[in-house]
Amino acid sequence: MQPDLRTFLKTLKKDHPDQLLTITAETAVEYSSTAVALELEKQGRYPALLFERLAGSEVRMAANLFASRAVIAAGLGIQAAQFSKHFGRCLDNLVPSRKVESGPVHEQVFEGDQINLGNLPVPLHFLDDAGPYITAGMIASRDPDSGVGNLAYARLQIKGPRRMGVSLHSRQHLWDHHRRAAQAGKDLPVAVVIGAHPAVMLAAAAKMGIGEDEYDLAGALLGQPLEVCQARTVDVDVPAHAEIVIEGHILANTEETEGPFGEYTGYTTGRSTNNVLEVTAITMRSDAIFVDIVPGNSSDHLTLGRAAKEAWVHKLMQEALPFYQELYYPSSGTHFHCYIQIDKSAEGQAKQAAQLVMGLDHYIKLAVIVDKDIDPSDEAAVLWAMATRMQADSDVDILSNLMCNRLDPSSHDGVGAKMIIDATELLNATARRVVLPEEAERLAKDMLSKE
Ligand code: MN
Repeated sequence: MQPDLRTFLKTLKKDHPDQLLTITAETAVEYSSTAVALELEKQGRYPALLFERLAGSEVRMAANLFASRAVIAAGLGIQAAQFSKHFGRCLDNLVPSRKVESGPVHEQVFEGDQINLGNLPVPLHFLDDAGPYITAGMIASRDPDSGVGNLAYARLQIKGPRRMGVSLHSRQHLWDHHRRAAQAGKDLPVAVVIGAHPAVMLAAAAKMGIGEDEYDLAGALLGQPLEVCQARTVDVDVPAHAEIVIEGHILANTEETEGPFGEYTGYTTGRSTNNVLEVTAITMRSDAIFVDIVPGNSSDHLTLGRAAKEAWVHKLMQEALPFYQELYYPSSGTHFHCYIQIDKSAEGQAKQAAQLVMGLDHYIKLAVIVDKDIDPSDEAAVLWAMATRMQADSDVDILSNLMCNRLDPSSHDGVGAKMIIDATELLNATARRVVLPEEAERLAKDMLSKE
């Protein structure tokens, strides 16, 4: 049987009940996913959320599915610490999707006058947003020249029963498909996929070549070919077990204002490519589950984006640098900070590692390099290394006028500065860390476990 969002939620409920919070009380569609997830974050809790009863909607809503690395790992059947290694292996061993005649995604089909985006529980997220937004929409398209499929996230603003605004501001494969179709005077056929197994949702966040199809990475992550079927009104494949699909076209030569919207930086932004998506069909499963990715600088939004990117950068760093160990993108840095662990054998390697990371990922504006005894995912440990192994006049480098992410509100029109902090010890350092005898540690642990 093909694993899907429902089997994943069942597994969470059964094997990790503390990682799924089911809300049975009737809840407003507006602001509930953001307010509940961000309140949980303040309490240090990151469960997946399932809203069973939304006011005025027949459709349930899942949210916060990616806020915790433990939940993501549970979805893939691995340990959280193995994520990057596993994901890297899957990038090298894609599993082609399997085309099937039909699937549950077509249990309900709405075309023509029956189409109404207003029937979906699309939330408002933050006060300054221009309107309700679909945040977990994975847009499936085909390369207009090669026909290769692509799957990518883009924010979608509801504008009418059959009209959405969409921003392709990350300017990657979907943007390129649309650009080439538009040059030929054609609208780009697309299918917006909402609600699928986390393997599909992670694959859509991955960095891959334009000649590679994210569905094939989803298959590798699932451990079996992803079953796809032809959409009803456009020549695009959709996961047969998806919850909801919105079919339509991104118009060739139409632009209208989209946004502002609360982005991952934690700021509201009006930056947009201002594209328009006209809907030709909505299909969904019976008893469908809508999915929301909590936007802004929430753990849900940041972890989904970072986990897949971290795995890709990790793979390339490992191939390039023998002394490189691990890296971590801390939530506190949105997508702009990176902590890198190395096993230093020569002075200068810290800067080499930092410069390579910045070359691979132009979002990074701060790289802190630590030794192999510092866990880069432990932010307090990284700060301790900075406190005790770094001198600002010799260990800090600032590079000026590099391309950066335009959503960084402090950048100057997409150009910014980058900082490297070498928090590794000198190879001839003599300071010794405090240590305990192993036996004493074990005895203390035993004693406290009996309290
Ligand atoms: Mn792609």
